[in-house]
Amino acid sequence: MELGLTGKAAIVGGSSRGIGKAIALALAQEGCDVAICARGEDDLKTTAEEIRSQTGARVLPLVCDMSSYDDIQRLVREAAKTFGRIDIVVNNAGGPPPGTFDDFSEEEWQQAVDQNFLSAVRTTREALPHLRRQGGRVINITSVAVKQPIDSLILSNAVRLGVVGMAKTLSRQVGKDGITVNNVCPGNIATQRLLSLFKARAQREGRPFQEVLEEEESRTPTGSLGDPADVAALVAFLASNQARYISGATIQVDGASTTAVF
Ligand code: NAD
Repeated sequence: MELGLTGKAAIVGGSSRGIGKAIALALAQEGCDVAICARGEDDLKTTAEEIRSQTGARVLPLVCDMSSYDDIQRLVREAAKTFGRIDIVVNNAGGPPPGTFDDFSEEEWQQAVDQNFLSAVRTTREALPHLRRQGGRVINITSVAVKQPIDSLILSNAVRLGVVGMAKTLSRQVGKDGITVNNVCPGNIATQRLLSLFKARAQREGRPFQEVLEEEESRTPTGSLGDPADVAALVAFLASNQARYISGATIQVDGASTTAVF
């Protein structure tokens, strides 16, 4: 299927590795220019070079902390200046740490709100004037926790629902501008983030890491962890012309592991 993404420009948050990197690669493979970002410059430059050499796309690496409003303003400004347009915004950042209600201070709650809620609000707000010129796509990477909260991830459960609520209302307000807004919910996707969550759980429960890993694999009806490319494939489709009538949706990529109906 030709997705019609050639010549479009995308910003992908948190994209030096994991799901964000896979999304940037998938969009570049479809012919997009991509601005990628992370806090650490070395990994970011390596990833930019990898994507360039695999796809021939224009890749703009920008050091940016998605929990900083100043950094986000600079990210959007530089991407628009370099590419002359912004068509696609993928809101993504590292996830908050695991823990229960008693574990977190005021500062840690604020950090989760900044990194995983306000980052999506701010990036979208800064990019909206550009998206409005020709229509566009806002795609938020959240978690299956928005459909079925995960006991050990109270920060994620709480702040990501704010993103979903914002996206639903925004989708109804910008539909007339040819802009769609959707949420993608990864389940167990094999990335550094997931493996460190499994390690933390193994430690907490006093069990070997391998046992926790195998338990998680066998709990997924499709029998394995997902690959970041599985999430990226949905994002590329949502970014396409064909997805113009899909908006305000929250779609999981989880190998059927979520038992909730919607
Ligand atoms: P990851 O830790 O493997 O990668 C995160 C990327 O974001 C890295 O490139 C990192 O450098 C960058 N990053 C982290 N914090 C940042 C910040 N403040 N500013 C800029 N860049 C930042 O994570 P992942 O597994 O790819 O997950 C991506 C998102 O999806 C996270 O929010 C995560 O919680 C969520 N998620 C992941 C899974 C999973 O199974 N992997 C499941 C559900 C939800």
